[in-house]
Amino acid sequence: MANHSILILAGDGIGPEVMAEVRKVIDWFGARRGIGFDVSEDLVGGAAYDAHGTPLTDATMEKAQAVDAVLLGAVGGPKYDKLDFSVKPERGLLRLRKEMDLFANLRPAQCFDALADFSSLKREVVAGLDIVIVRELTSGIYFGEPRGIITEGNERVGINTQRYTESEIARVAKSAFELARKRSNKVCSMEKANVMESGILWREVVQEVHDRDYPDVELSHMYADAGAMQLCRWPKQFDVIVTDNLFGDLLSDAAAMLTGSLGMLPSASLGAPMANGRPKALYEPVHGSAPDIAGQGKANPIACILSFAMALRYSFDLGDEAGRLEAAVEKVLADGLRTADLLGEEGVTPVSTSEMGDAILGALDAGL
Ligand code: NAD
Repeated sequence: MANHSILILAGDGIGPEVMAEVRKVIDWFGARRGIGFDVSEDLVGGAAYDAHGTPLTDATMEKAQAVDAVLLGAVGGPKYDKLDFSVKPERGLLRLRKEMDLFANLRPAQCFDALADFSSLKREVVAGLDIVIVRELTSGIYFGEPRGIITEGNERVGINTQRYTESEIARVAKSAFELARKRSNKVCSMEKANVMESGILWREVVQEVHDRDYPDVELSHMYADAGAMQLCRWPKQFDVIVTDNLFGDLLSDAAAMLTGSLGMLPSASLGAPMANGRPKALYEPVHGSAPDIAGQGKANPIACILSFAMALRYSFDLGDEAGRLEAAVEKVLADGLRTADLLGEEGVTPVSTSEMGDAILGALDAGL
C-alpha cells in the first residue's frame, strides 16, 4: 500500500542497529496486519559524509520532503568530531528540521509500570505516567533578534530576544489541540505571562485558537515555573503540555528523566500539513549514536521502536496499531526482559538488541 511512505535514515553508531529492529516491526505490520509501508532508505550524518562528503545530500533532502514520515536513528561519533562545523553529522539533522519547517517537537514522557523503579521519583508518582510535551521548535529566544554580545561603556552585555508572532503561537497551539484529541483531550499551556509580554500574547492566542476551533478540548494555563514544580509533584495531572522553545527545552528534559532510561525515549517533530493532510514529520529516538556501545548488540531498540509507534499514531492515524505496539513493548518489559541499559534488578541477564526486537515481535503475535 504505497499511501504510507517512510524514509529511513539510520545514521551512525547504534542508529543502524536499532533501526534494523524497527524494520522488523514495520514488516510485521505488513505481514500480520495488512498495513503495508512503502519504505526507502538513505544516508544521513557521518555515513552520508563518508559516501558523499556532506551529511545530507540534496537528493536525500528531496526524498524527505516527499514522504509521509522520516524515521531517523542517530548521527555523530568521535570519527567526525574534528570535521568542519559545516559538514558535521548534526548539520544533516538540523537541515532536515529546518527545511521541513518542523515547528512542533513532541516529547512523550511515558513510564511503563515495569520500569517505574528506574525513576528518581517515587513509584506511585510515575507508574503509568503518559504525557506529551509539545515544544515550539523554530522560534522564540533561540532565534529572536537582536542577539549577541555587545560592549556598553566598560562592560560587555549578552543579549537574546524572546519574540513570537501570533501565527507562530497559533500553529503550535493547533498541533497541541490536534494531539490532545487523539489522547485524553486535555491541554495545559505554559508561559510566564506574569512577567513577559510574549507570555501574555502566548496565553491570549492559545485561548483564541481554543475558543474558535477546539472548544471540546479542556484547556488550562500555568506559569512555566509552577508547571516545573507540578511536573515533579504530580505529573499525572497532565495530558498534553504546550510551551515555547526555551521553557519546552527545560521542561521536556525534566519530564524525560521522570521515566528513567535514555534508551526508552521517542520523539516526533511535526510541521505544517502536506497536500494529503498529513503533517511533515520526523520521528527519532531522543538518544544519540552511543559510540561507547556501537557494534556490540547492546543498544536498546525501544526508543526507536516507540518512535515508529508515534509515526503510526500521528502520521498515519493508526492510533489502535500504535497502542498495539506500545502494549507489546509493555509486555516484554513486564516479562522481565532488559537490555543492558535497563539493568539494576538482581539476577537479570541482559538481552541483545535483536533479542529485544524479536521478543517485541513475539508479543505482537501473542496480542493478535
Ligand atoms: P548518547 O545518547 O549517544 O549516549 C549517552 C549514554 O547513553 C551512553 O552511555 C550510551 O551508551 C547510552 N545510550 C544511549 N542510547 C542508548 C540505547 N538506545 N541503548 C542503550 N544505551 C544507550 O549521547 P552522547 O554520548 O552524548 O553522544 C554520542 C554521539 O551522539 C555524539 O556524536 C553526539 O553528538 C551524538 N548525538 C546525536 C543525537 C541525534 O542524533 N539526535 C542526539 C544526541 C547526541
